[in-house]
Amino acid sequence: MSDKQTDNQADEESFDPVVISEQQFEKATHLIQHLKKGLVDFLKQPKRINVINFPVELDDGSVETFQAYRVVHNRVFGPGKGGIRYHPDVTMEEVISLAKLMTWKCALVNIPFGGAKGGVVCDVKNLSERELRRITRRFTVEMADVIGPYTDIPAPDLYTNEQTMAWIFDTYDVLHPNHNNRPVVTGKPIGMGGSWWRHEATGYGCVYAARRFLSKALIPGQQDLAGAHVAIQGFGDVGAMAAKAFFRDGARIIAISDSQGGVYREAGLDPSDVEAFKSEHGTVVGMPDTMTITNAELLELECDILMPAALGYQIHAGNAGNIKASLIVEGANNPTTPAADEVLKKRGIYVLPDIVANAGGVTVSYYEWVQNQANEQWDAEQVDAKLQSSMSIAVDTVFNRWQSYVVGEQSPEDAETADTASEDIPDFRTIALAIAIERVTEATLLRGIWP
Ligand code: NAD
Repeated sequence: MSDKQTDNQADEESFDPVVISEQQFEKATHLIQHLKKGLVDFLKQPKRINVINFPVELDDGSVETFQAYRVVHNRVFGPGKGGIRYHPDVTMEEVISLAKLMTWKCALVNIPFGGAKGGVVCDVKNLSERELRRITRRFTVEMADVIGPYTDIPAPDLYTNEQTMAWIFDTYDVLHPNHNNRPVVTGKPIGMGGSWWRHEATGYGCVYAARRFLSKALIPGQQDLAGAHVAIQGFGDVGAMAAKAFFRDGARIIAISDSQGGVYREAGLDPSDVEAFKSEHGTVVGMPDTMTITNAELLELECDILMPAALGYQIHAGNAGNIKASLIVEGANNPTTPAADEVLKKRGIYVLPDIVANAGGVTVSYYEWVQNQANEQWDAEQVDAKLQSSMSIAVDTVFNRWQSYVVGEQSPEDAETADTASEDIPDFRTIALAIAIERVTEATLLRGIWP
């Protein structure tokens, strides 16, 4: 396929986050029997959207107005939960779709939170630390009555981190004296109520999910991570931690990228070396003994496992036909479009979807929230053990439902030879979403429609 054809195909595809999440939702609801009429409309809509414009004085004395969003999609299971991202491309539509994803993710991993998300339209790369602190504090003041330990609990996401969470906590705490406010945000620094292993949780969780998935023997000759060739797009919190976990399990990381491009080494990369190079040079590009590749080329590399761990919609109709991995592990949120899902399924490429794969982050965020309530700090081993168990249960839950479609006519042992591209066998994303929607629907009806 020529580059021109590739571009044309991608051009025709909708990248509207709301359209995409509705397409995924519709597909999943077809798997659910007896969905109460009218409830679907409730589940499709966010519960609350806050759009905030606020001024911030920059270091040069000028004033800039920033736009920010905080969306709560659903609170049937508990307070809204979801990250805050700082990125120039943040839109309200994207934040709404990510808030919905959080509802399904929390329901799938059985944690008592609903779904929420936030974003500030800004370019972190052009802002000083002091400017970021002022943006964060002002945003928190504007959200002071919106977020709260029992209403809506932010966490880090793209281009936000532990420091951002520390500023949010501090600002909120000043505005709400005489309370234990630590549980208002998760992903805090360890020294002020953060959980051990939270920083590692999303990336390691992805790898635990991949490991469990491979153990199901759906991919011939690849029942564990040892020797698996892995390509990772993104080397931030999620990508870097996943790289370490893959490496620890004996996988060979052949390529890694960041916003400036990627590096490839057939013999494999040691994530600690990549980390050291990136912290010195600000990018992975230029690492000695590596070949420089583009982010687009990384996605199409010959490998066993491809892990998008950066932005959304990276795998689309225009490049899904060129993906050569056997398994895609979605570290990022929404990295694969519905059109790409169709192509990948027809080509027999499995996708371990975001709702399962990267749920480790919110799982350990929940552990942090629990520790904050009890004023405890669990050790890293304890948190990691709970995380591994939770990721295994999530994969098993989705896999078992998938198998019930496959096994319709055959024995479980024959699942390996089933025609998984068949239209009668849904993909893992659709199944995971259906399970989550069923749980949220059931809880909504158990609570009773008020009044
Ligand atoms: P981060 O800001 O720590 O890292 C982002 C990485 O993506 C960086 O390496 C950056 O250089 C790279 N990147 C940015 N633009 C890129 C581009 N155009 N092409 C390739 N790489 C690019 O963010 P993060 O917390 O690691 O989040 C990454 C993804 O994982 C996001 O989609 C986020 O929503 C998702 N996620 C994060 C968490 C979490 O706990 N942090 C949890 C669940 C899902």
